[in-house]
Amino acid sequence: MKKHNFSAGPSILPKEVMLKASEAVMDLDGIGLSLIEISHRSKEFVAIMEKARSLALELMGLEGKGYQAIFLQGGASMQFMMTAFNLLEKKAGYVNTGTWSQKAIKEARLFGEVVEVASSQEDNFDHIPKRYKVPGDLDYLHLTSNNTIYGTQMKEFPETDVPLVCDMSSDIFSRQLDFSKFDLIYAGAQKNMGPAGTTLVVVKEDILGKVSRKIPSMLDYGVHIKQDSMFNTPPVFAIYVSMLTMQWLKDLGGIPAIEEINERKANLIYSEIELNPVFAGFAAKEDRSLMNATFNITDDGLKDMFDEMCKEAGVSGIKGHRSVGGYRASMYNALPIESVGVLVDIMSELEKKG
Ligand SMILES: *Cc1c(COP(=O)(O)O)cnc(C)c1O
Repeated sequence: MKKHNFSAGPSILPKEVMLKASEAVMDLDGIGLSLIEISHRSKEFVAIMEKARSLALELMGLEGKGYQAIFLQGGASMQFMMTAFNLLEKKAGYVNTGTWSQKAIKEARLFGEVVEVASSQEDNFDHIPKRYKVPGDLDYLHLTSNNTIYGTQMKEFPETDVPLVCDMSSDIFSRQLDFSKFDLIYAGAQKNMGPAGTTLVVVKEDILGKVSRKIPSMLDYGVHIKQDSMFNTPPVFAIYVSMLTMQWLKDLGGIPAIEEINERKANLIYSEIELNPVFAGFAAKEDRSLMNATFNITDDGLKDMFDEMCKEAGVSGIKGHRSVGGYRASMYNALPIESVGVLVDIMSELEKKG
């Protein structure tokens, strides 16, 4: 039986996508060869890459606006360094909203001055800092739109003339945003787009080429763009599955359609957390993530029972990250609302038993 998959990442993908992907591993669209045994320069794979790149821009409404989408390797963690390498000449600003922001800050410090423009570290990152001033002399401001570990999400983004760089690894394609506000967006595939192994980078071309340092080819966005994201052998399987997931999302009605479903799922679990005295939410109410709901059990004596009930119902992957503890239910695009319903039923049943 398929479990209810609340894993934070790698995470659930649409069933149709996995079926199609498994077929393509044996025989890609009836060509008599597997997706993973053909040249990445074959016309079949070039078409897949181009489709993936154009779907990414289309879903974000960024076609014809000076942006390029490329699929790189090294995870979002590689982008912590690569963004700074390509964009940081003198000084960059970072909003510190958790572990992933901190890792990005650490890497950027290798290349220039980094100012922490705002931070919620003192409160163990249970909220998103607001009303901070963005210095005007930054090469860019780096944000993390969704903090996977803490379950906080930026609902608003700073109004500034400074270029915005955003790590959207765990909420890419989950809600409507004016993506043209950002100059560079990156997202590891394995949270909301595909299997691990590739990272989507969407970059406005005119912010590139401004740093004076020499950039090794593999780390140079410009090189990857010029080579149509085929500078070297790309991770063909991860890109293919990401392409299928984006096509699935487009067929569903795109980001507006999935946003509505994601809001319904989040409302379902958050209203249970609010009304049920056995549970307490971790993240500040106004910053709660549509993707990752973090919560604790208020009565330690009920934990084993809750774990047992979840196990019996096939609820999988809700253990919280070690830096927060408690529970985390990740509700990425492909998670059906029925799965959230199963979890919420267990939560309300636990209240009756408590
Ligand atoms: C998971 C995650 C990362 C790290 O991604 P890798 O692909 O493992 O490097 C970075 N940022 C955010 C917001 C994440 O959720």
